[in-house]
Amino acid sequence: MDAFLQAALAEARQSLAEGGIPIGSVLVHDGAIIGRGHNRRLQQGSVVLHAELDALENAGRRAAQLYRQCVLYTTLSPCAMCSGAILLYSVRAFPGSLFWCQGFPGCRSRLLPRRLTCVLR
Ligand SMILES: [Zn+2]
Repeated sequence: MDAFLQAALAEARQSLAEGGIPIGSVLVHDGAIIGRGHNRRLQQGSVVLHAELDALENAGRRAAQLYRQCVLYTTLSPCAMCSGAILLYSVRAFPGSLFWCQGFPGCRSRLLPRRLTCVLR
């Protein structure tokens, strides 16, 4: 399994260990993880702390150009809110990299028309 997807799965396991929903995500730039996170809705009593947003938040504020070079690995297809953040920051696939989606194909209709690559496994 891809090392970055394994890192996302480790985040999902961390969420489960905390009593949360087991979804994890990592943001990768230039072959390195620059943000990682997991679903914290139950832990924090939050309505917005999905794994993808947690990973983006934990990456800190970055230059817009950097986001366009990033790949977000997540253990579940992004919901409408997270798909919106992905589009806002233009996180996408680039040659040699893939945007990974697992579970339900909810992101296809939102992300594929904008030339992002979703790979269902
Ligand atoms: Zn979400």
